[in-house]
Amino acid sequence: MIFVSRNQVAEPAILSRPFRGGKTETERAIDHYTNWDRKKQYSFSRYSETEVKDALETLFHGKCAYCESNFRHIAPEDIEHWRPKGAVILADGTEQKPGYYWLAATWSNLLPSCIDCNRRRRQEDVRDPANAQSGKQNLFPVADETHRWVKHDQANQNGEAPLLLDPCTDDPVDFIDVDDKGVVREAKPVGTQENDRARESIDVFGLNRSDLVDERKKQLALVKAICREIELNIRQVPFFPAGQMRDDTIAAIKTKLSELKAHQREDSPYLLMKRPVINAFVSRTAPDLVSLGIVI
Ligand SMILES: [Zn+2]
Repeated sequence: MIFVSRNQVAEPAILSRPFRGGKTETERAIDHYTNWDRKKQYSFSRYSETEVKDALETLFHGKCAYCESNFRHIAPEDIEHWRPKGAVILADGTEQKPGYYWLAATWSNLLPSCIDCNRRRRQEDVRDPANAQSGKQNLFPVADETHRWVKHDQANQNGEAPLLLDPCTDDPVDFIDVDDKGVVREAKPVGTQENDRARESIDVFGLNRSDLVDERKKQLALVKAICREIELNIRQVPFFPAGQMRDDTIAAIKTKLSELKAHQREDSPYLLMKRPVINAFVSRTAPDLVSLGIVI
């Protein structure tokens, strides 16, 4: 998970466009759940419009907002409600209906998610193999249930403290990092609020499910292999006199640097893990590259 500024993409107009009759979906949902008969759930539709899907895909560069896997072209994307719309699981495990119905068509509550992060199912956690369930679905843990928002008119009056990270308001680097085995860890010590939120997010989104950790490890190995090749070539250059061998080696360094830059692009997966590795490498080799006349 990395920070993504929502300002980069305009809010899709469809979310606040009135239906026939003049009311927006938010207004209709509030009407529906005011004096609700508990029989029929409101059928939300605006969030799943193509305009919203496209905006989220652009904003997150075709990646899952939680695990940073690239799902463009390979899997359908779920439009995920950070605060769940239809029902929410409370701390005691019971389901409360409705959920945050008044936020179902609210742009700041929508994120693109891969199926594995969003749908609750069996996924082995590499740090805790006994913990075989992950996927957010209707989970939205808060620090104190007595402050959970339950009605639209309390939304701005109550001190709800979500335990999950929101990549558009929290900067994940303040909470989590990734070790050299591709495993996501809490960045702050146990007992801190940052640690609590990191732990809960890793657990709920399943950020250490085994397939995902394997994929991160593969990507990390690719990045490290490129770094090694560049360093090897840097060490060789001084042994070559001016001429073809020297020119070819410098050209090879430039090619590999381009490959490394591609791993830093916004659409590249697992940037939380890759960015510190690449930044450290570039800082370490910058003097050598400059001395070879290579622009970083
Ligand atoms: Zn995901």
